[in-house]
Amino acid sequence: MKVSNRLRFTRAPTATSSVPPPSGLRQSRDMERLVAPGVGDGSVAPISASLSWLRMPLSGPLSFINLWVIDDGDAWTLIDCGLSDRDTRSAWQAALANPLADKPVGRILVTHGHADHLGAAGWLARETGAPLFIARGEFAALQNALAGDDLPARTFYTAAGLDANAIDAWVTRIRDQLDYYRPLPDAGAPLQADETIRIGGREWRMIGCSGHSPEHIGFWSPDDRILVAGDQVLPRFTANISAWPGPPDYNPLAHWLDGLGALESTVPDDVLILPSHGDPFRGLHARIAEMRAGHHAMLARIATALDRPRRIVDLLDAAFGKKIGPHRIGGAIGEVAACLQWLEAQGRAMRDGDEGGVHWWRLSGP
Ligand SMILES: [Zn+2]
Repeated sequence: MKVSNRLRFTRAPTATSSVPPPSGLRQSRDMERLVAPGVGDGSVAPISASLSWLRMPLSGPLSFINLWVIDDGDAWTLIDCGLSDRDTRSAWQAALANPLADKPVGRILVTHGHADHLGAAGWLARETGAPLFIARGEFAALQNALAGDDLPARTFYTAAGLDANAIDAWVTRIRDQLDYYRPLPDAGAPLQADETIRIGGREWRMIGCSGHSPEHIGFWSPDDRILVAGDQVLPRFTANISAWPGPPDYNPLAHWLDGLGALESTVPDDVLILPSHGDPFRGLHARIAEMRAGHHAMLARIATALDRPRRIVDLLDAAFGKKIGPHRIGGAIGEVAACLQWLEAQGRAMRDGDEGGVHWWRLSGP
């Protein structure tokens, strides 16, 4: 694969978005434009001398996921994999047969265990013989999902106020998502936050963040001033920060906000951010401030809606400022539950369980 030795920023016409960047962000420097790769065609676009970019298709509003390939001398190191579906597998076959044909895949690194990132890892590992690297907690979450015990999920969504039919539909939907991981990957070697990994002649520091997922890992290269951000920092929306069935006091939003603070203090503002969704951008600290403010605004809307005891399902429309339809209800419940756990930990909200296992939330304290 031939890549430029300098940053090239010219945007392909098909990749142009008419949506302006969020306030405070710089989509690119004045002279910079990005060449985005095609979605699902196996093409590879250069970002720097050693790092390149692929896009794999996703259904729904996300449309695609960005994946990264680093030239590691005698092999490629991949970061993230896409879903294990026919479109992504054929796009990988095209990429491996042409732009990536001149050396083998040496390693597969995965930022976190969600299906669009980890899904195709098992298939890719078999196809290439390359080992998988992922944080232990991320792989454990997949194993728990595969274990097949629906009871914690039924308890969680009952507490949120969802009726039995809606719970059945949502649990089935979650279970169907597991097909995107087949063939299942082996556990692989663990990635560890705060350690460094050498890729492409560079030291990459692994930055941990819990909240969007248990042990999400981002990769930061001070030499190249590039942050492979995964889903931790996205340019146009915030990744889902959800409570899930399990420990009631996990407080994912607190972990996520802590992770943003750690990222802000570790990585300078003016670096090139490579997000998993959307376009690469600059302006890390402004974007972190926006994401933080967005969540505090949502917390305020939820607190305002708690004018009397309410179930989570009663709070969804107020929390998001729009009607939440049945396809989004499970994810929306998780996000509002995360907000309520945060308010509860702050001493600002509390819940009372009724005989049906439903939790009724109310404000507490001043
Ligand atoms: Zn994710």
